[in-house]
Parts: sequence; C-alpha cells; structure tokens
Amino acid sequence: MEVLMEVKNLKKYFPMQSGFLSSNKGYVKAVDDVSFNIYKGETLGLVGESGCGKSTTGRMLVNLLNPTEGDVLFEGKDIRELCKKDKKNLSKNIQIIFQDPYASLNPRMTIGDIIAEPMKINKIVDGKELEKRVLKLLNYVGLASYHKDRYPHEFSGGQRQRVGIARAISVDPKLIVCDEPVSALDVSIQAQVLNLLHDLQKEFDLTYLFIAHGLNVVKHVSNRVGVMYLGKLVEIANDNCLYSDPKHPYTQALLSAIPVPNPRAKKERIILKGDVPSPLNPPTGCRFHTRCSKCMDICKLEEPKMVEIEGKHSVACHLYDASMAVENN
Ligand code: SF4
Repeated sequence: MEVLMEVKNLKKYFPMQSGFLSSNKGYVKAVDDVSFNIYKGETLGLVGESGCGKSTTGRMLVNLLNPTEGDVLFEGKDIRELCKKDKKNLSKNIQIIFQDPYASLNPRMTIGDIIAEPMKINKIVDGKELEKRVLKLLNYVGLASYHKDRYPHEFSGGQRQRVGIARAISVDPKLIVCDEPVSALDVSIQAQVLNLLHDLQKEFDLTYLFIAHGLNVVKHVSNRVGVMYLGKLVEIANDNCLYSDPKHPYTQALLSAIPVPNPRAKKERIILKGDVPSPLNPPTGCRFHTRCSKCMDICKLEEPKMVEIEGKHSVACHLYDASMAVENN
C-alpha cells in the first residue's frame, strides 16, 4: 500500500504558566513520541479517552499546531519545510472536519458562502462555475439547493456537519482529518453522517484519519485502528485483528465497554481503576501501569517499546516484550 502520510516521533508539549510573571511550571505532554503511517485510500481510526492527545495529533497533521519535536511527511515531503507554493497546496490537500459543527461555521455567512470560500481562496473556480459547484456539493452531502441562502443557526446539528463536510471536500483534498465528527450528534444522526463519509470516500478517492472517543464508532468505518493513552500510541492493527484479538490491556478494557446488541450474550466488562493521570506529570515506565490489572514490576520502571507482534499488529506492552523474547530464544 502506498504511504500518504508518515508521522515520526511526534511530540507536542504545552508549557504550563502561572503567576504574575508567567513562570513556567512544567509541560503538559499532550502527545509524546507518536509514530504511524496513513496509507492512501484507507481510514485509520484513532481512539482514546479525553485528553489522550488524539485531537492534538490530528491538528498537528493539518498544520494547525506546530509540533514540539518530530516530523510529519505528506507524500514524502516534510510539511514544515515546504516552500510557500507547496504550503498552499498542502492546505488544499489536507482538510479537517471539526467535532462541533456550529462553532466551526461562521454564523454571519450563508451556507453557500461558507462552502464557496475555500474554492475562492484556492482559486479553483469562480463566477457561475463556483455557484454550480456549490449546488453540486450541497447535493453530494444530502442538502437542497435552497439551503445555500440560509445561515448556520437555521440548521440542525447533523445538517451543520453536512455543511462542514461539503466545505472540506470542496477543494478536492487527498486526506481529511475527521476530528470526532459525530460525537456531538444524536445517535440516529451519527449513522447517517458515517454513511455519508463512507460514500464520499469512494466517490472522491479520499483517505481519512478518523478520530473518535470510543472503539464502537470507528468499528464500521476504519480499515486500521490506533489506540492512544495519555499521549502515547499503545496499539495499532487492522480493524478485524484489533476487535477480535486485542493485545494491550487498555484496548481490552475499551472493547469490553462496547454494548452487545444480544441481551443473552454474556460479556465481562473490564472496569479500569482510578482516573487518567495528569499529562503534566505522567507515571514513570508504562503510563498505563497505575490502572493496569496485569502490571508487573518492570512496568513501573521501563517504558515499553512499540513492537510488531504479528503482521501489521503492533503493541507497546511489556507482556509482549517477554513473549517475543521467549520466541526468539
Ligand atoms: Fe499493563 Fe505493564 Fe502492559 Fe503497561 S506494560 S499495559 S502496565 S502489563
């Protein structure tokens, strides 16, 4: 598979300042040494609890945030070292759909102007062609042509998210970062928006990074899934491997929380102890050790490395360091 984006050892530390002189009280390690690839045409799901760094990662990939360290390569080129022209192309090629469709749409602009704006900025079409393209995009996302003269407050949450999607695809991007695009919507609307994203992926040959809170949302839309915990990527695998045979204890706990539609099916829920520790002062060794039922002495001291244990299934956990060492002997 062709690699569209390479993320290498990405870090984002936010300084914590307090007091009259704004003295630095340390750093919130929102993303701490995360690496993965995004392949052309796939949907990579990225999941984890609030504050695990998944949205910060997404924002660095679209150049909305500068990384503290690490590289993001799009089609082999480092996005921070592009010339002015390539930077403009990059902003066209990588788009983002935000979680809150209302906050991401300018309340003073009509829907038609909101969808037309990126095409005007990127000088894709103008005049009558621009009008025609806006109507076509409204049609693609399931809205009517008369909606173009309305304002965001006149729409429901699901319709506003459709507008956000139309705006994102208007410039014919290659990669779209979907930052929790359905978590603010009713469950009945969530499925419609997920189906729409799936149809548009086929129609426009799109690649998605799909960020979500829980594994149940990404289950039906992702080809591969990465799981983040407290700024670290702890497991990444093809979706069927991850759902049928999760390796990391955190992934196992997240999966056990997904409700089963069969009332007779017995499923043991893994309840995690305590709260997520502060990213200002993360635990030593494995960051999950304070909540892990399988914690060993080494887990408190040494950070586990990401190892590929089966084809395209990688996990960062000392349980698998040990088993691999046995196999190698
Ligand atoms: Fe649990 Fe240790 Fe694995 Fe961390 S490294 S997930 S603490 S077993």
